[in-house]
Amino acid sequence: MKLYHLSSGLLHVNTYFLVNETTREAVCIDGGENYKLIKCTEQENGFNIKHLLLTHAHFDHAGNAALLQADGVKVYISAIDNPKLSDGGTLDSNFGRHYPPLCADVLLRDGDKLCLSGIDVEVIATPGHTDGSLTFKTGDMLFTGDTLFLESVGRTDFPTGDREELIRSVKKLFALGGDYKVFPGHEDFTTLSHEREYNLFSDVDI
Ligand SMILES: [Zn+2]
Repeated sequence: MKLYHLSSGLLHVNTYFLVNETTREAVCIDGGENYKLIKCTEQENGFNIKHLLLTHAHFDHAGNAALLQADGVKVYISAIDNPKLSDGGTLDSNFGRHYPPLCADVLLRDGDKLCLSGIDVEVIATPGHTDGSLTFKTGDMLFTGDTLFLESVGRTDFPTGDREELIRSVKKLFALGGDYKVFPGHEDFTTLSHEREYNLFSDVDI
């Protein structure tokens, strides 16, 4: 499996592609807003997106999900965040965007284990940024969405955000055994060992 990465849009959202190098089928994590850019990335690198995993429903991560779904890409999100994709919970109109609503194809829960295009992915519920935020674990990699960032954590001032929940979720990730590469929804990559030591929220008590 090979990892491809793309940062796009005003909010510099990170989109990741897990590509099965034999079949060239890909799992996309957080497609972002720009459909055309995703399609060009897919073509230029010679892979074929089959699955779209959303860490949460916010428009900067999920804006192009309806267009990708119309192409036949299967969309996955937590059962908790799924209604936000069609009830304004993406916050698109709050930021002057209007993306088509959708209902995901597969609703995820904590502990789900998926095998997508031959790639194993484990679902870890990490509520706090939204109540349905997820982290995806594959191999030695964690895709943390807006839960855990380089030396920081996600905002909790949006609807369904909860600071205590977020800190609990971050501590849940810190408690995973061993080290992981951390690929957040925005900003730079990091590692779990770096975050255990230097994250500004690692010493915060709930
Ligand atoms: Zn967000």
